[in-house]
Amino acid sequence: DKFKEGLSKTRNSFASKVNDLVAKYRTVDEEFFEELEEILISADVGVNTVMELIDELKMEVKRQNIKDSSRMKEVISQKLVEIYYGDDEEEIEELQLNEDGLSVILFVGVNGVGKTTTIGKMAQRLKDQGKNVVLAAGDTFRAGAIEQLEIWGQRVNVPVIKHSEGSDPAAVIYDGIQSAKSKGADVLLCDTAGRLQNKVNLMNELSKVKRVIEREIPGAPHESLLVLDATTGQNALSQAKTFSESTNVSGIVLTKLDGTAKGGIVMAIRNELDIPVKYVGLGEKVTDLQAFDAHAFVYGLFA
Ligand code: GDP
Repeated sequence: DKFKEGLSKTRNSFASKVNDLVAKYRTVDEEFFEELEEILISADVGVNTVMELIDELKMEVKRQNIKDSSRMKEVISQKLVEIYYGDDEEEIEELQLNEDGLSVILFVGVNGVGKTTTIGKMAQRLKDQGKNVVLAAGDTFRAGAIEQLEIWGQRVNVPVIKHSEGSDPAAVIYDGIQSAKSKGADVLLCDTAGRLQNKVNLMNELSKVKRVIEREIPGAPHESLLVLDATTGQNALSQAKTFSESTNVSGIVLTKLDGTAKGGIVMAIRNELDIPVKYVGLGEKVTDLQAFDAHAFVYGLFA
């Protein structure tokens, strides 16, 4: 239901176009596929993924000898889910946490994508699962970033470890780890800077932060989540490429999916980068973070 609600823009655009298409072409023919291809591309599904999907659909139509276009919504949904998971197991990928000791989750991504908000939502989510959470204000670069994280810390009632603006992020994260350990906390959520104007510096800074985490806790960070803004479409895809080239990204949080009619970007990210989308942001409220589930997503689109 959360998916249905949060995806209303994509649903209104994508699903209604598919409905119109089915009404227009009663039979499944070449023209039907041509228009379907356009609809999928305009929903940001990504050219490669669209081509793969269209090929699969054509084969399925042949195999099942489908003539009537009204059956196509079901077949499209099925194939979207299949293509999303590829050879992987169909399971909701939750966080890989350290069960007996401190887990560290690093959040990376450019400014404005919703990193701070996601950390706040995630803190609440983990608290609801009975975990003790600490936040580390590792974005020492952007004016206001530390205060913003503190506001979230107060809102969800978890401690925030910070230094002053402009200080060394690796030192903040180091303190965050010591503090989380001394409190016996379960999870440390680390914010990082997101300026992309100086890519080399940013990536060096991230490597340094990672080295500190790895040194303090073997096996950490347990997750490095890249936060992307769904409303930026293909731009999100290129950000994902940049980050995954220079740092080990274990999963993606795709925010503001409620704010776009082009939710197909989920498919493009998964298929062109082979990084799982672990969570999606479906609004600004603390409860608007959902574990991603391709099945619920695709069926939410057509619901
Ligand atoms: P940061 O610079 O990456 O830390 O981004 P912020 O966390 O400050 O978020 C930027 C803006 O996006 C804020 O106004 C948030 O309320 C908003 N935002 C974050 N996530 C979502 C989401 O899932 N849906 C919507 N509609 N807005 C979001």
